Amino acid sequence: MTETLPYAEVIGDPIAHSKSPIIHNFWLEKLGIKADYKMFHVKPDELADYIANRRDDSNWQGCNVTIPHKLAVMDHVSDPGDVRASIGAMNTIARTENGDLFGTNTDAGGFFAPIADVPLSGQDVIVIGAGGAAQAVLFALSRIDVGSVTIINRNVLKASALLMRFGLKGQALEHGSALPPARLLVNASALGMKGQDELVVDLSSLPDDAIVYDLVYVPIKTQLLKAAKARGLETIDGVSMLIGQAAVAFEIFFGQAPPLEHDEELRKLLLT
Ligand code: NAP
Repeated sequence: MTETLPYAEVIGDPIAHSKSPIIHNFWLEKLGIKADYKMFHVKPDELADYIANRRDDSNWQGCNVTIPHKLAVMDHVSDPGDVRASIGAMNTIARTENGDLFGTNTDAGGFFAPIADVPLSGQDVIVIGAGGAAQAVLFALSRIDVGSVTIINRNVLKASALLMRFGLKGQALEHGSALPPARLLVNASALGMKGQDELVVDLSSLPDDAIVYDLVYVPIKTQLLKAAKARGLETIDGVSMLIGQAAVAFEIFFGQAPPLEHDEELRKLLLT
């Protein structure tokens, strides 16, 4: 009889593009943990049945949740960290000790991990985008006492609402506006992603010690990061956040921190 291993998985619609199985299975192998991480295609009208079925599967350790389920899944699990009221979306579901299901969001921690050592307190920040990823970014920024936050978005009303929601001082500007000076520029929009328009911004207003952080990870070297490098600015790519958010989820699913000393090898694997 084949032994059924403990497993976690990522769900979404579509799902085939997900890099999460590569990351989690790489860490499972490095740590010698006998478990599996899969992907499972779940359409919006299948979400309730999916959660009900997995609830009774004792091998299932939990799942990562991607587009379009990050909001809907909050109706099916408990919310001990009050994620609904804070970030407003869940990307990880797991079991409590008594077997109930709870949800959390590891995107804010994943975003913050690569900039944890940067002294951003009181420093001005620009965030481009006001969707789900931007919400996790703004939540993290609201916790570290940054200075003024400029949110630039196509829908400027959405951007203003997020400033209020996260209690940030700053301004909301329309997409295409000139950038104010800032220590950190984050692209949390879909622009620059494969299949989308390029993000075209003039970086000349940024100081020489500015950091440009692009959440887009397909491609890894976006036009924005290339332009920042050409200006001699420090850059952080979307794979850093991808690995960061997966690391928090991995520990929740499998009870051990992942071996981050192999990040360079993992990055090469993600590029193939
Ligand atoms: P989302 O909720 O759909 O938000 C998309 C954002 O992009 C919105 O602000 C939207 O503006 C803007 N946008 C889309 N098309 C645009 C266009 N043609 N012109 C101007 N603005 C446009 O998506 P999301 O989940 O936040 O994801 C955003 C990006 O972050 C994606 O590239 C995703 O891959 C990346 N991401 C990366 C990680 C990671 O771990 N590295 C994690 C999560 C997300 P409107 O509000 O005006 O529609």
